[in-house]
Amino acid sequence: MHEAMFYSRLDNNQVLCKLCPHYCKIEEGRFGNCHARRNRNGILSTEVYGRIAAFELDPVEKKPLYHFYPGKEILSVGTTGCNLHCLFCQNHALSQCDNRKPVLIKTLSPDDLLKAAQKAKHNIGIAFTYNEPSVNYEYMLDVARKVKQNNLVTAMITNGYINPDPLEILLEYIDAFNIDLKGFNEKFYKKYSKATLGPVLETIKQVGKSGKHLELTNLVIPTINDDEDEFENMCQWIVNELGENTVLHLSRYFPRYELNQYPTPPEILFNLYDIAKSYLNHVYLGNMATEIHSNTYCPVCKSTLIERTYYHIVPKGITAEGKCIQCNTQVIQHYSS
Ligand code: SF4
Repeated sequence: MHEAMFYSRLDNNQVLCKLCPHYCKIEEGRFGNCHARRNRNGILSTEVYGRIAAFELDPVEKKPLYHFYPGKEILSVGTTGCNLHCLFCQNHALSQCDNRKPVLIKTLSPDDLLKAAQKAKHNIGIAFTYNEPSVNYEYMLDVARKVKQNNLVTAMITNGYINPDPLEILLEYIDAFNIDLKGFNEKFYKKYSKATLGPVLETIKQVGKSGKHLELTNLVIPTINDDEDEFENMCQWIVNELGENTVLHLSRYFPRYELNQYPTPPEILFNLYDIAKSYLNHVYLGNMATEIHSNTYCPVCKSTLIERTYYHIVPKGITAEGKCIQCNTQVIQHYSS
């Protein structure tokens, strides 16, 4: 058993988990809402510590991270469980897995995972992804500390549903974040994700203030979260809180898990792309074939810096330091050719 962080003991052998805004009160023997943490005899235990359910050397573009060492590869790991229960989850086999019957491909200690990261050719570090990594907080923190001591990078691909204190500790060891902003109204989050929007916005602001690399992803579902006015409000909020250089990925939805809506028509994504581009300098369409909507452009002189086709990139007008060759604007902070 690996004892979890951020909880307190209550009467009758119950525990209160304080890792995420659900604040689960968990009875003896039961799991929390994320199915990753369990009350074992009055002690909150993380049931997924060191349990690897997905393990791949992926392009960073696949996370998606487009302005964080583009073209490089990162060892990507995930476990099972999630503190959100999105009806449209694109990765439900891991995220909604019942941890009494867990998916498992291997068990790795933090040292073993570090060794695997160091051994993988052309690898820049470790990305915590696939399922929600914060439900495996203790393992992620232990691994990230070691990874940073060994001069590799770390990335966290997250739904942003975590409390400020645990996030603050993590910020010291995570270099890059991609946070899902699944919609921009509370009703949507409640009905489709069984959570609330407010804490996600607070997480985004906290990461933004920390200066760590941050990109956002919005999965666009037709008729469900594609309202133009609401989308425009979201873009306005991003500019106000994080600035116009924030990277926003608009991802095409396909039917998965419990939602059987039709796939997002490309014209909806093109329209939202145009709206977002009127606020933000770096907007990308993902999960679909498009070239001009996945390239990186200089926000000043508009030249093409990087051409992308899915996860394949071709640097065009960018220097080895991530600057525009034409006008010398620094566009990508984390770049190595
Ligand atoms: S991390 Fe899991 S157990 Fe803890 S409050 Fe969130 S959902 Fe509940």
